[in-house]
Amino acid sequence: MVTDLVCKMEIDETKAFSSLTFDGEKYFFCSEGCCAEFMRHPNEYRRRKMSDESDPPYENGNV
Ligand SMILES: [Zn+2]
Repeated sequence: MVTDLVCKMEIDETKAFSSLTFDGEKYFFCSEGCCAEFMRHPNEYRRRKMSDESDPPYENGNV
């Protein structure tokens, strides 16, 4: 499974509407709209993805 960065939906990469390779990474999208939206702001979506991974929301899980 891969995550559509635009709508955050998990999609099966074999069933994704479209995929594209951007800056050496492959991205999958559930619809033409999501793909078009990513193309409008690729750096914004990529930065968001990276900050999600490096800054987990539940860092202090026992609080
Ligand atoms: Zn989508």
